[in-house]
Amino acid sequence: MRVLLNEPLAKHGFWRVGGPLERFVIAESVEELRALPAIDHVIGNGSNLLVPDAGLRGTTVRLGGALRDVMVLAESGDEVTLRVGGGLLNAVLLQRMEKLGLGGLGCLAGVPGTMGGAVAMNAGTALGEIAACLLAVHGLHGERLSRADLPMRYREGGLPEGFVVVAADLRCTRAGVGEERAKIAEHLLRRKATQPLDLPSCGSVFRNPPGDYAGRLIESCGLKGWRHGGASISDKHGNFIVNLGGATAADVMTCIRTAWDTVRREHGVHLIPEVHVLGEWPEGVWPLPE
Ligand SMILES: Cc1cc2nc3c(=O)[nH]c(=O)nc-3n(C[C@H](O)[C@H](O)[C@H](O)COP(=O)(O)OP(=O)(O)OC[C@H]3O[C@@H](n4cnc5c(N)ncnc54)[C@H](O)[C@@H]3O)c2cc1C
Repeated sequence: MRVLLNEPLAKHGFWRVGGPLERFVIAESVEELRALPAIDHVIGNGSNLLVPDAGLRGTTVRLGGALRDVMVLAESGDEVTLRVGGGLLNAVLLQRMEKLGLGGLGCLAGVPGTMGGAVAMNAGTALGEIAACLLAVHGLHGERLSRADLPMRYREGGLPEGFVVVAADLRCTRAGVGEERAKIAEHLLRRKATQPLDLPSCGSVFRNPPGDYAGRLIESCGLKGWRHGGASISDKHGNFIVNLGGATAADVMTCIRTAWDTVRREHGVHLIPEVHVLGEWPEGVWPLPE
């Protein structure tokens, strides 16, 4: 186990902003996690998180070591069940699956998080979402929740409050792997052309409202390229906020609030954030008004 005191989230999160984590623990096993007196926050790869410049109090954990393992649990015909550690990166999982000749998790291609983060967010793309292949999740104290126990919705994993995903069981397949790879390649090219992947961001900031796109709404308010300090609403994609260099968490939050307030005023649409905002923010800034 590694324990770092006052470790800046800016070193770990994708936006490269955020203040010190009072006690940052990288746990290598379930036993180490269980031995902690408290777990106040769990983070994955930090690709969907905003933490204030003042940082986070208490203990924040990240899963490492054996919590990043992957194993074959069962096989039947073309169907293969994998048990994947909550700390494993999606990109590493997809590489391992490629070596095993497996497909079925193309929805995680290009999503730069971990398995725990993917379940917590019900991560997905135009190729589907993880809810469709998730069989069960395993918690810190041996609890097992089946997919049917989780009220998963668009970008919502439905995990009980405080549940730490130490592993997830996923349905994969040996069928149609070549076709899936071709779709992934096409999908990744499309993303590269439409998203600002060369600058630090946390991907889409807001969920798409029913029948519309958050990016379209933000763009129609003339906000593409709108800038505050070192952060900007991307001029390439209205639903991305990027760090142009030297941004603070407060700069990113100002961009989020400007987009949210303007879309509500001009379109009457109450956007729901996809990004998870943690910690204490000044009153009136966060949480968003009802
Ligand atoms: C360039 C870019 C593109 C992206 N594209 C997509 C996309 O196409 N589709 C998509 O869905 N997302 C996308 N994202 C957002 C992000 O990658 C996903 O939401 C991802 O699933 C977050 O995983 P993470 O491990 O980074 O979680 P973090 O950002 O570290 O945490 C997110 C949430 O998950 C919780 N969490 C993390 N690990 C665990 C665990 N083990 N147990 C319980 N809770 C946990 C955290 O507490 C937090 O609430 C993108 C992000 C970037 C930067």
